[in-house]
Amino acid sequence: MDTNKQITVTSPQLPDLDEFQALLKEIWESKWITNNGQFHKLLEEELCKYLKVPYISLFTNGTLPLLTALQALRITGEVITTPYSFVATTHSLWWNGIKPVFVDIEESTCGMDPNRIEAAITPRTTAIMPVHCYGKPCNTKHIQEIANKYGLKVIYDAAHAFGVEVNGEGIMNEGDISTLSFHATKVYNTIEGGAMIMHDSEMKKRVDFLKNFGFADEVTVVAPGINGKMDEVRAAYGLLNLKQVDSAIAARQRVAQIYRKELKDIPGVRYFEDIPGVRHNYSYFPIFIKAEEYGMSRDDLYFKMKARNILGRRYFYPLISNFSTYHGLPSAATENLPNATRIANEVICLPMHHELSDNDLERILDCIKNR
Ligand SMILES: *Cc1c(COP(=O)(O)O)cnc(C)c1O
Repeated sequence: MDTNKQITVTSPQLPDLDEFQALLKEIWESKWITNNGQFHKLLEEELCKYLKVPYISLFTNGTLPLLTALQALRITGEVITTPYSFVATTHSLWWNGIKPVFVDIEESTCGMDPNRIEAAITPRTTAIMPVHCYGKPCNTKHIQEIANKYGLKVIYDAAHAFGVEVNGEGIMNEGDISTLSFHATKVYNTIEGGAMIMHDSEMKKRVDFLKNFGFADEVTVVAPGINGKMDEVRAAYGLLNLKQVDSAIAARQRVAQIYRKELKDIPGVRYFEDIPGVRHNYSYFPIFIKAEEYGMSRDDLYFKMKARNILGRRYFYPLISNFSTYHGLPSAATENLPNATRIANEVICLPMHHELSDNDLERILDCIKNR
């Protein structure tokens, strides 16, 4: 057995090269390489079907739809968000001149704790920006009730939640807008890429203008837009990858089942179970280490894995609220974020992708079991 081959936390699913070359040939012949070409249109249609959503707008990465959603909904003032995410969530607020207000997360989902939202609302609050962390659905019903009560918009950063369904419904239908990332590290990738999901054709139209500098036609600029367009090469790549994403999710599910079976009896190691009625995408497999019970700290385990060439990731550590841009905000205080602070010090995301072998899993589990 190859005992020292590097095991990465993720590995991108790539389309069949011959199939991709055939599509590239079509693009070369048409010479239509970006700006809402045929593959762009086709990918939007196919993604609507796959995600069970009415409207989608493709972007060139997953950060621009966050920035653009805030513009499209004309969000200002303060937005309530989570410190337990990838930095792009909060950066999108900062780039719009909006003050982020952090609220703590729930241990059961690592998503925003709806019970803490109302206390964070001020007269300047205009929206809530939660994250379906690790693809685990937020408590969307409770969040929407609060949004309705106070007249707030809800924008879900759904970058982790591609293909997740609750009782047969696509989770992207929640809130006013959801955004996706198709970065190489995500369950479904277009190398770089992303999308915004909305409920009506008016919003789709507005967002399509906004991602193309605000152009409504050749001579009319309706808003100060940005360039967020996805090109034809990555749209074609995305069409091919969409055909195989279900097999990638199935392979990830198998890995999750093995992890759960093997980690079940190890004291001090917590992990998530599947939720009945939810179609999970197995985008991440976080474990949470209680140092006293486990007999080793999270960091000691993390570095031990690293020394054995097993690259887990401490997603999400440090908390966004601890980065220098944000740590001076009153809501960034550790006392305000006890769950997020603790969990950030317990978490390791284990390697999780469609190509992990039994040998890889054996090495990872051996490292965790024999401490
Ligand atoms: C990956 C990710 C993003 C950013 O997406 P990019 O495509 O890398 O710009 C935003 N939010 C979350 C939660 C992410 O995981």
